[in-house]
Amino acid sequence: MSDERINHVVVVGGGTAGWLTAANLAKQFNSNNSNSVQVTLIESPDIPTIGVGEGTWPTMRKTLAKLGISETTFLRRCNASLKQATKFVNWQQAPKAGVDNHYYHLFTSIFDPSDFNLAPYWQLGKIGDNLSYADSVSVQGQICEMNLAPKAITSKEFEGIQNYAYHLDAGLFTDLLREHATEQLGVKHISANVTGVNLDDDGYIQSITTDTNGTIDGGFFVDCTGFKSLLLGEALNVPFKSVANTLLTDHAVTMQVPYENEEVDVASCTISTAQAAGWTWDIALSNRRGTGYVYSSKHTSHEDAEQLLRDYIGPQAENLVARKIKMNVGYREKFWHKNCLAVGLSAAFVEPLEASAIFLIEAAANMLSELFPKNRKSMPLIEQKFNDSFQFRWQKTIDFIKMHYLLSKRSEPFWQDNKHPDTIPATLLQSLERWQEQALTDYDFDNVYEPFPLESYQYVLYGMGFEQNLTYKQSAFDMADTA
Ligand SMILES: Cc1cc2nc3c(=O)[nH]c(=O)nc-3n(C[C@H](O)[C@H](O)[C@H](O)COP(=O)(O)OP(=O)(O)OC[C@H]3O[C@@H](n4cnc5c(N)ncnc54)[C@H](O)[C@@H]3O)c2cc1C
Repeated sequence: MSDERINHVVVVGGGTAGWLTAANLAKQFNSNNSNSVQVTLIESPDIPTIGVGEGTWPTMRKTLAKLGISETTFLRRCNASLKQATKFVNWQQAPKAGVDNHYYHLFTSIFDPSDFNLAPYWQLGKIGDNLSYADSVSVQGQICEMNLAPKAITSKEFEGIQNYAYHLDAGLFTDLLREHATEQLGVKHISANVTGVNLDDDGYIQSITTDTNGTIDGGFFVDCTGFKSLLLGEALNVPFKSVANTLLTDHAVTMQVPYENEEVDVASCTISTAQAAGWTWDIALSNRRGTGYVYSSKHTSHEDAEQLLRDYIGPQAENLVARKIKMNVGYREKFWHKNCLAVGLSAAFVEPLEASAIFLIEAAANMLSELFPKNRKSMPLIEQKFNDSFQFRWQKTIDFIKMHYLLSKRSEPFWQDNKHPDTIPATLLQSLERWQEQALTDYDFDNVYEPFPLESYQYVLYGMGFEQNLTYKQSAFDMADTA
């Protein structure tokens, strides 16, 4: 195995995954210095990016700060807005006149539940009558209801009064990243179609052939070619493991909705509304809304799905163009194989319910840049570490998303099929069984790279009306009251 130093990384694909990864690596290596590891990004001038992916996690603040992009520049250039939660509407049950049917998955709680867990007190009715779980442990839901922001105009860059992430325009975001990565961080940019992936005798990628720029050699390759997975999937034959049996949505229809006037309030949370065969998203940017219906084509036709989205938007949808996207839900058996790592849709995708994809791109780019192998000899151990870590993260993400469907009391066929035992991961079932009798604790989240922490599970479980029998806790409280 070669101990020749890797001095050139080739990233193929110029979507959010490609530019975030290339920029992160170039920043880490200080690629502006010609003696450091160099980064080249090749993107097709003909194949468009997926063009969706507008909801992020609070980690994006750290990512932008690490890359040296100012928050003000980012907000202005990407028509971005501040996101502080997802509001889930009609998920517990189908809409019923007079019944409030929403809950919040927030980014901020008064106390970190690891320090002081308010959930059992709320469960046992010790925190006010009829107060939702989210309102019992945070004020952020109220802030969202008033369409207020999580930071003041005088707050410092990347600092807020409440925790927050962003909504952003995906196309404008890649434009900003491309400009920053090439002009500030030293990433070389090639606009060309990759027409061949050339392997050496050991099955490692040696070079990439392009239609207009010849052959490009590299020591390490990052596959960011989207659902195509040109390098890891097609050239290296790493199989795709579908999870369509667990997560039943397989398509999305999307529309961009302009604001009627400049005075309209911009929602500071993503609104996710459950529908007959899936759910709609509603993301408010500073200049328009991005909306979409994520649905199962086994449970509704494409025409009915588009009509549902138009009905959701209302009269404004009349002249809007709808775009249909097919989603492959699942992940590659390995994300890293030989000298190739897939990041973004080429590695995995599960439906966008909790906007986890960009977060996992950030996480993959960070892990690659910190563990970057010196040479081929050091690759297999890092490969194993990376694959174990991301198998775990994706499986946990799948469990968490499935949990939303499982806890719903909706009765349409799509929702019933979601509860079929064959569709439920055993790991999720075991956790839910245990939590029926036990409060959630840190012991349930003992991996530091758990994508969804204890707090997130509490917001969703209690928001969805998950029932727990904590009578042993009740008697402990009673004793404390009378002591
Ligand atoms: C309906 C939907 C909604 C989503 N919503 C969210 C969300 O709210 N939050 C979130 O975090 N994520 C979301 N995602 C996921 C998110 O959009 C993606 O993870 C993200 O955009 C990254 O995409 P990508 O860069 O991997 O792929 P793409 O954007 O598809 O980019 C692929 C790149 O590869 C290039 N390429 C392909 N073939 C070649 C070739 N032969 N030669 C050269 N270049 C090539 C293309 O030109 C392009 O530049 C959503 C996804 C879908 C489908």
